Amino acid sequence: ESVANQISAGEVVERPASVVKELLENSIDAGSKNILIEIEEGGREKIRVKDDGSGIPADEMELAFSRYATSKIEEINDLYSIKTLGFRGEALASISSVSNVVIKSRTAGELQGTKMELKGGSVLGQVPVGIPAGTDIEVTGLFYNTPARYKYLKKVNTEFGHISKIVTREALAYPDIKFTLIHNHKEVYKTPGTGKLIDAVYTLYGSEIASNLTPIDYEDRYIRLTGLIGNQTISRSSRIYEVFFVNKRVVNSRTLSQGVEEAYHGVLPGRKYPVVFLNVVLNQILIDVNVHPTKREVKFSRDGIIKDVLKKGISKTLQTKDL
Ligand code: ADP
Ligand code: MG
Repeated sequence: ESVANQISAGEVVERPASVVKELLENSIDAGSKNILIEIEEGGREKIRVKDDGSGIPADEMELAFSRYATSKIEEINDLYSIKTLGFRGEALASISSVSNVVIKSRTAGELQGTKMELKGGSVLGQVPVGIPAGTDIEVTGLFYNTPARYKYLKKVNTEFGHISKIVTREALAYPDIKFTLIHNHKEVYKTPGTGKLIDAVYTLYGSEIASNLTPIDYEDRYIRLTGLIGNQTISRSSRIYEVFFVNKRVVNSRTLSQGVEEAYHGVLPGRKYPVVFLNVVLNQILIDVNVHPTKREVKFSRDGIIKDVLKKGISKTLQTKDL
C-alpha cells in the first residue's frame, strides 16, 4: 500500500470548518502576513480565504488540485519531521471535488496572475488576471454533489461556531499574522499581527480574559512550556479557554487538559476551569506514533512525565506571581 493511500484514510472535508482549516494552513505555509477569511451562511454559501503569501505559479495551478501531486513525504516516518502544516497534497483536490472553486493566484515574480475555475474537481478554464501577489480561493456550493454530506450540515450558527474556533486557534498559534474573519459581511474580528500572543488574546477573547494572564516559561526534562496562563480559574464550564499547541501545531489533548486542570486544582482549589494558552515544545519521540499526525487529538508516549512537568511549571509560575 502506498504511503499516499495510507494517509488518505479519513476524509479531509467533513464540514465547512474543515475547508477553512485546510485553506488557512495553506496560507500560513505560504508565508502570508495577512489572511482574510470571508464566510457566508456558516460556510454553506461561501468560504473565501485570501492571502498575501507566495502564490502559485500559473503552470502549477492545475497540479495543486491533483491528489498527492504535491505530497512532501516519501515515507511514513518522514511525517514527524515535516516543517509545513500541509504535506499530503490532497486538501485542494478533496475540497474541489465536492464544491465549486474559483482560485486566483500570483507569485511575486509573475507579471500577471491566473484565475482558474473548477466544478466538482474538473477544471473549467484558466485565464490571466490582474491581482496583487498572493492567493484568493473562493469555495461555493460545498457538498452540492454529495447529498448525504450536505444533509448533515448543521445550522448556520453551529457551522460558523466550528469555523470561528478553527480561525481563533490558528490566530493564537500565529500572532505575527493578521487574521480578519468576516461572517455575512460583518467583521467578527481582526487580529493585530504584532507577534505578541497577548495582543491576539485581547482581540479574540476580550480584556477580561487578557488582563488576568501571566506569562509562563518553564523547562524541565527537555519539555518547554511557554505562553500565557490565567491567574484565576473561571466558573464557565467549558474548555474553550484551554488552548494547546504542541510544537506550533494546534492540538487537542486529554493529557494536557488533565495535567493543567490538576495543576490548577493544586494551586487554586475549588473552581474548575483554567484559562491557558500553552505552547508545549518537546521532542517528537514523546508523541505517540500510533496516532496519525493529521488528527488533532495528540497522544503522548510518556503521559506521566508531561503531566508532571505541567504541574510543576504551572504551580511554580502561579506561586511566583503574587495572586
Ligand atoms: P498540501 O498543503 O498538503 O501540500 P494542498 O492540497 O493543501 O496540499 O495544496 C497543494 C499545493 O498547492 C501546496 O503544496 C502548495 O504548493 C499550493 N498552495 C495551496 N494553497 C496555497 C496558497 N494559499 N499559497 C501558495 N501556495 C498554495
Ligand atoms: Mg494544505
